Amino acid sequence: ATPTAVMVASGKGASQGVLIKGGHALEKAHKIKTIVFDKTGTLTVGKPVVVSAVVFSNFTMEEVCDMATAAEANSEHPIAKAVVGHAKRLRQNLGSNGEPIVDIKEFEVHPGAGVGGKVGHRTVLVGNRRLMRAFNVPVGPKVEGYISENEHLARTCVLVAIDGEVAGAFSVTDPLKPEAGRVITFLRSMGISSIMVTGDNLATGTAVAKEVGIDTVFAETDPAGKADKIKELQLKGTTVAMVGDGINDSPALVAADVGMAIGAGTDVAIEAADIVLIKSNLEDVVTAIDLSRKTMSRIR
Ligand code: ADP
Ligand code: MG
Repeated sequence: ATPTAVMVASGKGASQGVLIKGGHALEKAHKIKTIVFDKTGTLTVGKPVVVSAVVFSNFTMEEVCDMATAAEANSEHPIAKAVVGHAKRLRQNLGSNGEPIVDIKEFEVHPGAGVGGKVGHRTVLVGNRRLMRAFNVPVGPKVEGYISENEHLARTCVLVAIDGEVAGAFSVTDPLKPEAGRVITFLRSMGISSIMVTGDNLATGTAVAKEVGIDTVFAETDPAGKADKIKELQLKGTTVAMVGDGINDSPALVAADVGMAIGAGTDVAIEAADIVLIKSNLEDVVTAIDLSRKTMSRIR
C-alpha cells in the first residue's frame, strides 16, 4: 500500500478504536485464514470469580482460605485475585474479626501452575493439578471428582495443598465476553477459522470453546508452545493472526503474521502486537480485517 493509503486507513482505524502500527499489518490482515485466540482475558472477560469451595481434610474452610490468601496475595494472576477476594468475603460472613495470616516465606511463582511457600511451619501450594504433580502431592478420587465436575462446567479449579495433602479447592469461573460467540460465527462466514490456545487445562478450555463455537483447542500451552502453534499453521501456508492479552501471549503475537492485542491487556502484549484493539472488544478483529480488505482492494 502507498504511504498515503496506509495513513488514511490508520486514521480511520484509530477513530474506530483500532490502533494499527504501520503498513505491514494492514497489508497482511486481508489474507488472514486462521485466527488463534487466547482464552483468559481474550475470549473471556479476564475477571474470574470463585463460585464454589470445598475442604477435603481436617482443616476448616477458614484455614484453607487463610493459607490460600497468604500465598495468592503475592500473585498478580487474575485467579489469585479471585481467591483472595473470596476468602475476604468468607471471613466477613463468618464475622471473623481476626486478620488472616498473610505472612509467607520462600514464596515462589510456578508459571502456568500456581504459587507456593511456607506459612508458619506449614508448606502451602496453591494451583492446578500440574503443580500438585510437580510436588508429588497426591490427587485422590474425591478431589479428582470435584475437579472434573467443575471443569466440564467451563470452570478452573484451584487446589490448596497444606503439608503435602490437598486440604481444599476453589472453583473459579470467568465470564465470556458477550460478543465472543457472535464474532467467531461472523469470522467463519468470512471464511476465517478460529482456534483456541490456553495455559488452562483441556477440559475447561474445551468447555469454553464449545460455548463460543470453536472446535479446535490446544490446552496447557506455555508461551513458547503458543508461538509454536502459530508457526506450525504458517508452515501449512496459512496466514495466521493471534489475538491475546497476556505476557504469555507475546511470543505468539510476534510470531503471527498479524498480532492483535487486547487494549486492556498487559503492556508487554500491546508492545508485541501489530494491531491494538483499544476497546478490548472482539468485534474489532473484524473491523481490522475489513479495513485491510478495503484498503488493499482500493490499491489493486
Ligand atoms: P492462562 O492465563 O491462559 O490461564 P497461565 O499460564 O497464566 O495461563 O495459567 C495457567 C494455569 O495455571 C491457570 O489456568 C491456573 O490453573 C494455573 N495458575 C497460574 N497461576 C496461578 C495462581 N496464581 N493461582 C492459581 N492457579 C494458577
Ligand atoms: Mg490471557
